[in-house]
Amino acid sequence: MSRGGSRVIGDWTDDAACSRMDVEVFYVRGAILSAPALAACRACPVRDACREHAESNNESYGIWGGLTARQRGWP
Ligand code: SF4
Repeated sequence: MSRGGSRVIGDWTDDAACSRMDVEVFYVRGAILSAPALAACRACPVRDACREHAESNNESYGIWGGLTARQRGWP
């Protein structure tokens, strides 16, 4: 995902639903605060690629591919 241009990862990011969103919403804690990010992920056509990127790169913070860090196995 490009996440506002601060995290350019690869070609799959061109279709990211979050490409024009504030990156900060992907790094908040709590169900209410993270709702906008999770809603974007649910509608995102590159969710699988995003999730695979997070797993391959040990992304231990933030929401990637519709999963929180905890859901991806991080404390
Ligand atoms: S799955 Fe979520 S975090 Fe990943 S690119 Fe799509 S909207 Fe962004």
